[in-house]
Amino acid sequence: MDKAHFGLIGLGVMGENLVLNAERNGFSCVVYNRTTAKTEEFLAGRGAGKRIIGSTSLEDFIAKLERPRRILMMVKAGQPIDDLIASLSPLLEEGDLLIDGGNSLYTDTERRVAELESKSFGYIGMGVSGGAKGALEGPSMMPGGTRSAYEAIEPLVRKMAAQVDDGPCVTYIGPGGAGHFVKTVHNGIEYGIEQVLAEAYDLLKRSAGFDGDAIADVFGQWNATEELASFLVEITEVCLRTKDPEGGADLVELIVDAAGQKGTGLWTVVSALEMGVPVPTVYAALNARVLSSQRVERIAAAPVLPAPPAHPIELGSPADAMAPLQDAAVLAAIASYAQGMALLKEASVLHDYRLDLAAIGQIWKGGCIIRARLLQRIQNAYTTNPDLPNLLVDPWFAEQVNRRLPGLRQVVAGAALAGIPVPCLSSTLDYIDSYRSPRLPQNLVQAMRDCFGAHTYERVDRPGSFHTEWLD
Ligand code: NAP
Repeated sequence: MDKAHFGLIGLGVMGENLVLNAERNGFSCVVYNRTTAKTEEFLAGRGAGKRIIGSTSLEDFIAKLERPRRILMMVKAGQPIDDLIASLSPLLEEGDLLIDGGNSLYTDTERRVAELESKSFGYIGMGVSGGAKGALEGPSMMPGGTRSAYEAIEPLVRKMAAQVDDGPCVTYIGPGGAGHFVKTVHNGIEYGIEQVLAEAYDLLKRSAGFDGDAIADVFGQWNATEELASFLVEITEVCLRTKDPEGGADLVELIVDAAGQKGTGLWTVVSALEMGVPVPTVYAALNARVLSSQRVERIAAAPVLPAPPAHPIELGSPADAMAPLQDAAVLAAIASYAQGMALLKEASVLHDYRLDLAAIGQIWKGGCIIRARLLQRIQNAYTTNPDLPNLLVDPWFAEQVNRRLPGLRQVVAGAALAGIPVPCLSSTLDYIDSYRSPRLPQNLVQAMRDCFGAHTYERVDRPGSFHTEWLD
């Protein structure tokens, strides 16, 4: 084989599948993995008979690549990426291009783009979503960096990405760390929707008394609707139907109820707080994971803090696809997207990313974990009005909110009386109620702050800054 078109470092879950994807799309590849045994195993297994060659050292890897080199790094985020860049840099030549396809912190990517570009190398921070299957069959890809660097990989990534009706699920996102920032927010939205679906399952189990198959039937009905048809609803149905091979119980019921949280969910919330963008549904999902992991404490607290007496919750019936609960789930999913898009909008201004929110809606329609039919509506909303302040006020979404809000209220109120936690649903209700309130009680907060700390306040009836001597 002549020199390879494309190089991949890191034969983990994602790397293996991405290199098979590139090869299938006509690009010959060279691979390198820190642990050489993994490279050998891959070339003898899934990589056998393909235009993929191995390498035993970074020097060997670099020598086997055509110039300018295009190298995708799919290794653990953080220090391993910096270490890899440090090892590769002396081997690179002008015009060579490094792509970090992992879940890197966007500020790390900003720094790396600046450093590598100053050495005349290209650097792309590219979010990749779709898990193992998506990586193989076509993921959603969110590349950021300089536009010229993107153009050098465009033919490759457009072929590798998932394809939807209006094109491949990849586009140039923006400069610096824009690609990794958008991937981070994608994952924050994912946290929100996963938690919303978990809360719906919990209510159907604990309040309605449904078993796994009956709950799966509800998710199956929801997956046939425009508002909820999505990869996450689809896999929820699958998870709920799956039985333990030993004993036949619903497998989900045998799984420990503690979820961790990795970088991206946390980074979404931290960035949102820093940028002054409310993301309460996403934050509630993050907190729910953190609280779930305090399992020992929760079990100890249960008898000390007993639940209220049983209280029925009006969730609807299978004949109406659990209409109030469906309303609640739709609005909390919409809120997750609305908050994520609002965060992207603010980051775009602050970092001068010039994000095209309609295009981001488009590339999330296929390949990625949050792909959903609703994304067409999101794309439409930002195509019609690129400056839309919030998805909730787009006419189509506003109609959804106004029609479904009574259902959400009913479910949240019932859950509160029954003592069943629904952090994402209740945060969504507060978010919508706050967002549509022309006057909130922060006038009193301002009064208190001025009272104890002379922080001053503004008045509604005249301009200026005011202070009152509240205490004698
Ligand atoms: P993985 O299966 O855990 O594989 C990790 C890879 O990183 C291995 O090839 C490993 O090499 C290499 N590695 C780890 N530490 C290293 C170091 N210090 N120096 C050099 N190589 C090192 O990972 P993955 O799931 O494919 O994920 C790769 C990246 O993609 C991560 O940033 C992840 O967050 C992101 N991502 C993952 C998914 C997913 O669904 N899994 C989806 C999107 C993005 P060895 O074989 O030598 O250990």
